[in-house]
Amino acid sequence: MTDYSFDTLQVHAGTEPDPATGARQVPIYQTTAYVFKDAEHAARLFNLQEVGYIYSRLTNPTVSALANRVAALEGGVGAVCCSSGHAAQIMALFPLMMPGCNIIASTRLYGGTITQFSQTIKRFGWSAKFVDFDDLEALEAAVDDNTRAIFCESISNPGGYVTDLPAVSAVTDKVGLPLIVDNTLASPYLCRPIEHGATLVVHSATKYLTGNGTVTGGVIVDSGKFNWSASGKFPSLSEPEPAYHGLKFHEALGPMAYTFHSIAIGLRDLGMTMNPQGAHYTLMGIETLSLRMDKHVANAKTVAAWLEADPRIDYVTYAGLESSPWHERANRVCPKGAGALFTVAVKGGYDACVKLVNNLKLFSHVANLGDARSLIIHSASTTHRQLTEAQQVAAGAAPNVVRLSIGIENAADLIADLDQALAVATA
Ligand SMILES: *Cc1c(COP(=O)(O)O)cnc(C)c1O
Repeated sequence: MTDYSFDTLQVHAGTEPDPATGARQVPIYQTTAYVFKDAEHAARLFNLQEVGYIYSRLTNPTVSALANRVAALEGGVGAVCCSSGHAAQIMALFPLMMPGCNIIASTRLYGGTITQFSQTIKRFGWSAKFVDFDDLEALEAAVDDNTRAIFCESISNPGGYVTDLPAVSAVTDKVGLPLIVDNTLASPYLCRPIEHGATLVVHSATKYLTGNGTVTGGVIVDSGKFNWSASGKFPSLSEPEPAYHGLKFHEALGPMAYTFHSIAIGLRDLGMTMNPQGAHYTLMGIETLSLRMDKHVANAKTVAAWLEADPRIDYVTYAGLESSPWHERANRVCPKGAGALFTVAVKGGYDACVKLVNNLKLFSHVANLGDARSLIIHSASTTHRQLTEAQQVAAGAAPNVVRLSIGIENAADLIADLDQALAVATA
């Protein structure tokens, strides 16, 4: 199956006609538990000697179909679906971390992720150090004996900045740590982080994978390439795990160790499970992922170029524009397009931004992105409100900028809407 091209995989990977009924589309297995053939069968399932269904907190046929499809699209060996993108991030760190461990994270992240990493994970005894990932020396210098992972976004929210994944993965290889890439804004159609050296890929399926604002979900994909036993830093994977009757996951399961650990311990004990109905909607969304992403990118280029030429605008951050300092990097890291999310600095600052948001008719003012509909938000007064102004500026969410998520409507209609609202905002 993995020999097929992306357009074929997005429709077929991970699914077959339903073995019980022949149903061509993946049914919603709205079910909790699965009958064991006999006591032996049950024992083999619980020992991970045989793969099968036990209880839907761990695995469910509809959710597994989605996991397998996303793994195929990202070029990974396995995947785990979670209840949200934020759940996927905690779940991604869980097999790697112990109290006292830290991660090195990019300063350019989704606002909620900065809060999750700078505040909430402290409750687990974990911590994060934030570094500008364009400063590779600073990145390497931040690593200490307790560092267990390096985390960044391929294309970052809100500015549409592109991370130099090949350069960052050269550093993570050198220091022997896993690189986790949040690929939400690019989707596997525009960027395949594993090909650039990522160990794990995380997604908020809430965004482009589903593509229409109907689901809250997340996915973790494992490349299967990291040697969890080499450094002794990942005992939950390399040593006998007391939470799973002493199983040595890496020794027993090889490249599938991380995926099985995430299901058998992560989902079992943290319970951040995706529901079958949500998985079904995301599977439907993914069938048209490449078509939608091409249209998102084409529209984003047209709208960003129009805004950049408009005298009411200070600057546009879209990496798809030739004027962007990230343009060359975007062509290398995400050759099919730099996504459809960017920020716009409006002359007139904070007040003009608020008026712009209030006067748009087609764009919706919401805290979401990656919808078929075009969306806008003033990050400084909403998603990035919890941050200091210095953190807002570092994250690309300064008070004078709005963030646009360009949808798949007609680009001329989007421009007309921005034109009339800018006229009011800057009058
Ligand atoms: C939305 C988002 C998240 C969080 O995902 P949820 O599904 O809302 O929990 C994480 N990373 C990025 C880049 C996002 O856009």
